[in-house]
Amino acid sequence: MSGVAAESTLNRGPSVEATMPRYGMVIDLKRCYGCYSCVMACKTANHTPPGVFWARLLKGESGQFPNVVRQSLPVLCMQCEEPSCLEVCPTGATMKLEDGIVVVDQDKCMGCKACIMACPYGARYSVDEWESYFPDGLPLSPYEEFTKKAWEEKSGVGVATKCDFCRDRVQEGRDPACVEACPAKARTFGDLDDPDSEVSMLIKRYRGEVLNPEFGNKPKVYYLPPR
Ligand code: SF4
Repeated sequence: MSGVAAESTLNRGPSVEATMPRYGMVIDLKRCYGCYSCVMACKTANHTPPGVFWARLLKGESGQFPNVVRQSLPVLCMQCEEPSCLEVCPTGATMKLEDGIVVVDQDKCMGCKACIMACPYGARYSVDEWESYFPDGLPLSPYEEFTKKAWEEKSGVGVATKCDFCRDRVQEGRDPACVEACPAKARTFGDLDDPDSEVSMLIKRYRGEVLNPEFGNKPKVYYLPPR
């Protein structure tokens, strides 16, 4: 990935190195009603190919009959403090930046897929070929041609890819696309190290928890309970 460097210093606005944030996300399961806006916003913003979902929505039920409710669980790369993907990468292509965002340098990735197998959250993808959204035999549509080119420039074929909290947007002071698009305001993005940030206050007030803490990866995506 051109422009990715271990010494990268992402920031949002005029903050200085001394106050480097540690980015995280809070997803309020009470608010999420499973509309897939986050999924579609992610695909649009990151030009992901068919079958690649950096932001996903898992569906299930919770409770016992007759008190059963349909539950949506949005998932993405958890930007782990101790990423399994980084540990197994033989080339140093996977890096955790100073602000905590885990990224892949596509120029260093040799496509061994070790990280894809290592990630316990199933957050990584690799595509060998861009396939059309439409049935066999049809040429790529103009939109597919555009997104294919954009994908190849940003992420590439035959290399590991995943959500990077929309770091390009974050560098511009914007929220990740999934956060911005959520009509229910179920997602909040911010600095986990700032006790006054909205994410910190939400986690503290509503006892936010990470998914599968037993994995030991120390994710930076927190969930607020469904009720
Ligand atoms: Fe790596 Fe998976 Fe953790 Fe993301 S969720 S940082 S891909 S181990």
